[in-house]
Amino acid sequence: MNDATSPNPGAEDTDEEKANEEKVNEEKVNGAELPAGEFAAWLAGMQAAIRGEQESDVPCGACTACCTSSQFVRIEPDETETLAHIPNELLFPAPRAPRGHVLMGYDERGHCPMLVDGKCSIYAHRPRTCRAYDCRIFPATGVEVDADDDTKVAIGLQSRRWRFSFPTDRDRVAHEATRAAAASLRERDDAPLNATGLAVLAIESGDSSVVHGEDTSPPKTTSRSPTLEES
Ligand code: SF4
Ligand code: SF4
Repeated sequence: MNDATSPNPGAEDTDEEKANEEKVNEEKVNGAELPAGEFAAWLAGMQAAIRGEQESDVPCGACTACCTSSQFVRIEPDETETLAHIPNELLFPAPRAPRGHVLMGYDERGHCPMLVDGKCSIYAHRPRTCRAYDCRIFPATGVEVDADDDTKVAIGLQSRRWRFSFPTDRDRVAHEATRAAAASLRERDDAPLNATGLAVLAIESGDSSVVHGEDTSPPKTTSRSPTLEES
């Protein structure tokens, strides 16, 4: 997710914010391709991010699509630093989650309330969900985030700009396995209902032996993945 800081949450759109949005829109119109990195290395890093072992490292540039696409941000009770930087009135209990798990919603434009002047105003203290988010999960899995959801068009446009590289057979095999995992999961009765959940589960379930060169247990069907929750 996009970085940088701003001290003024809740402000109206400013010239800087509008300029940022225009720049992002211009990039989208141009549709310039973006290097996504070598696939197998990216997959191993993304799986570690989903397990909470590291943060995602996305070269977002001026993009703020995932902060402006009507997504609920889940925050867990142990994220005390994050919770201390978000006004209580912006949080509400997460449905079907243990006590203390909360969601942060979005404003009437679909923007996260912590996004100010086109930048995350709590970047140093942003939720674990935001630290793990990486829109490259969609080209990695072949899942179209905006296929059935107009509010995710900006993420869809950005995600389709990424181009992975495949310098070895391992990269190609890992990509095929990840896309196959997504296709297989899609057919299951217990498949996640939203695109983000499906893509994350496919990344988790992908054949990590391809990446790590070792045997693995069968794909998992449940997830504690720190993902944005779609509206
Ligand atoms: S949509 Fe992707 S590139 Fe854009 S801010 Fe989010 S993670 Fe970064
Ligand atoms: S807290 Fe809001 S603005 Fe900051 S990275 Fe997360 S979604 Fe984006």
